[in-house]
Amino acid sequence: MLTYQQAIDHILRAVRSLPSVEMPLTEALGMVLAEPVDALWDLPPADNSAMDGYAFVFAGQGVGDELKVAGFVPAGAPFSGSPGKEEAVKIMTGAPLPSGCDTVVPVEETTVEGDRIRLNGAPRKGQHVRHRGEEFGRGETLLEAGTPLYSGEMGLLAAGGVTTVRVHPAPRVALLSTGDELVELGSAPGPGQIVNSNYHLLAARLRESGCIVVSLGIARDDPAELAARIARGLECDMLISTGGVSVGDRDYVQEILREHGFELGFWRVGIKPGKPVLFGTARGTLVFGLPGNPAASAATFELFARPALRRLAGHPDPLPPRLRVTLTAAVNGGEKRQRFLWGTLHERGGRYLFTPSARQGSGQNRSIQGAQALLPVPGDSPEIASGTEMEVMLLRLPPGGS
Ligand code: AMP
Ligand code: MG
Repeated sequence: MLTYQQAIDHILRAVRSLPSVEMPLTEALGMVLAEPVDALWDLPPADNSAMDGYAFVFAGQGVGDELKVAGFVPAGAPFSGSPGKEEAVKIMTGAPLPSGCDTVVPVEETTVEGDRIRLNGAPRKGQHVRHRGEEFGRGETLLEAGTPLYSGEMGLLAAGGVTTVRVHPAPRVALLSTGDELVELGSAPGPGQIVNSNYHLLAARLRESGCIVVSLGIARDDPAELAARIARGLECDMLISTGGVSVGDRDYVQEILREHGFELGFWRVGIKPGKPVLFGTARGTLVFGLPGNPAASAATFELFARPALRRLAGHPDPLPPRLRVTLTAAVNGGEKRQRFLWGTLHERGGRYLFTPSARQGSGQNRSIQGAQALLPVPGDSPEIASGTEMEVMLLRLPPGGS
């Protein structure tokens, strides 16, 4: 049986980023740039004032000196004249500097008397001026390939005049739930039935990470029904099924996949939860068969499917970030397989504390709720004492992150 490390290495070798597409900047939120992006112009476009105040030609003026106010320049309207030696032009933040002016004195540092101002302090030559191209110049690279586009990147590219970008598109992911016992949310479960909660967990995880979800609904444990839905799923970039990959009498998923050209990457990994996980490709689509137990499907999604999705979406580093933490509770030993424990993070005195969720059973929905990280615990580990420093895999940014 593969280890976690062997399995993830296998996945990352098998997955390439989706071919890039050109799209409007406004639609590319969360996507990753496929090529560098350059500014179309200088910013600022001209020397301008960093303050509301008065612009003038510096000539060694000091405290008490007076200047005649020769005009007014608001933001967005250049001033046509050029003030003389003893003159100043009232100027608003962001307004272009009148020709010849090189210095700005803020309103707060002046006293107005009629059409004149008196300087309350001694200005420095060039103060409060933002220079043309100071932030970036035309043709300058604003962002490199591989950069994800979040709010800060959106603002920067817009400022540089970039209207379209070449990005890796959002992966389209088909979700298939399998099991005779499942009913959709909203239908009352009959005897022996449960709600298809895995769909809601995984669809939410996928949407949180910017993927497009295609629901294939519930397939009964019936070869014909599975086949029809799997065929539809193979039109997406990734097919994720839950349930039906163990060794039970009605675990048909792998068999039906094979009829659709499935090439096995691996089946079963020596981990807990999630041992029966299945990975491979069929007709160019990545296929993950996740176990049906909620915490096992969620864990295998985080451990295996999410890095594959990040790679598809062009992220240069698809693996989850790691964080050093201190355990707030002991972790029992005596488990052969490598474990991944759900838990929460708290910051105390500059260190992160990790509290394992009280319920770790693979059948438990509660273990996942609120979890911020997974703690890998090596197989055959002895008991690990509370207070021990370890490394966790971050599922979302720690408290205080943005
Ligand atoms: P399986 O992997 O098909 O043997 O399913 C293992 C366990 O997970 C069973 O108890 C199932 O009832 C449960 N299960 C399977 N699919 C789902 C689902 N979509 N939502 C919630 N529980 C599920
Ligand atoms: Mg099943």
